Amino acid sequence: AKRGGRGIVRVFDESMDEGIRFRRRVEGGLSQAIAKGELSLVYQPIVSRDAIDVVGFEALVRWNTQEYGLMSPATFIPIAEESNLIHELGDWVLREALEVLKQWPGQYVSVNFSPRQFRRHNFVGHIMQSVQRAGIEPARVQIEITETAIFDDAERAADTLYKLRQMGFRIALDDFGTGYSSLYNIRKFALDCLKIDRSFIDGMGRERESAAIVHSIIHLGRALGLGVIAEGVETEAQVQALRLAGASHLQGYFFSRPVTADIALDMARAGILD
Ligand code: C2E
Ligand code: CA
Ligand code: CA
Ligand code: CA
Repeated sequence: AKRGGRGIVRVFDESMDEGIRFRRRVEGGLSQAIAKGELSLVYQPIVSRDAIDVVGFEALVRWNTQEYGLMSPATFIPIAEESNLIHELGDWVLREALEVLKQWPGQYVSVNFSPRQFRRHNFVGHIMQSVQRAGIEPARVQIEITETAIFDDAERAADTLYKLRQMGFRIALDDFGTGYSSLYNIRKFALDCLKIDRSFIDGMGRERESAAIVHSIIHLGRALGLGVIAEGVETEAQVQALRLAGASHLQGYFFSRPVTADIALDMARAGILD
């Protein structure tokens, strides 16, 4: 039993080491990824509820690593978030997205900001400077943040959001329904829309609970005068149900996977999806 026990401990230790080693390697690689040109952005259209107009695109980062091939942002963003790398990465994402946006006729770009970016000292001044340098109207930039970013220090977050909105930025609350938001607090934040988390859309056809949550979020959004974007829409049945429920915008593989800047430009110029 003792040997077995030690065995388990050893395996556990080794896997811990490996986890740490992996993180270090990712951190090391990421710090050079920008200079090496290994990062890129893909863009996923956001369409009006009748699915006729492409109103905007969400920018999603990709990292083509030498060691591991294409790595998901779900893996490297949390690692970047634990170091200051997230700022450098985030600055690159914003700069790149704003460059690409210039070519589109009227759509907005929706950019993800992690909690640490949002809480950065002088985030408002920083982002304003970026759009001014690029010569972009703030109204064409949607800032996607999660509940985690705003509910830790609600007072300060409310102030930041207020300032951003005053300047004309759009604000979307991402992954809505998965965090710790209190409905009471939602009122205090200057928001433009809620994004219903993909997990609820996914469960809609199967579980009554998910369908009920989706309906509640849409209802809440409408009552507060906010837009509601349903993300992760994959099927015709989901489109019908979401339309009926009153979602204002839809996004997901059903319409389009995230695409390269070139393809996004074609979609933006057409203004519709075919
Ligand atoms: P998110 O912001 O919730 O983005 C939605 C994710 O769902 C994206 O994954 C997107 O490709 C995927 N998706 C969209 N439609 C569908 C669908 O119909 N079905 C399915 N199964 N998936 C769909 P992705 O690109 O891997 O990004 C994962 C997460 O990484 C994002 O979740 C976001 O939290 C983070 N992320 C991505 N890009 C950035 C970035 O530039 N900055 C920051 N801070 N985070 C980012
Ligand atoms: Ca997002
Ligand atoms: Ca999301
Ligand atoms: Ca998500």
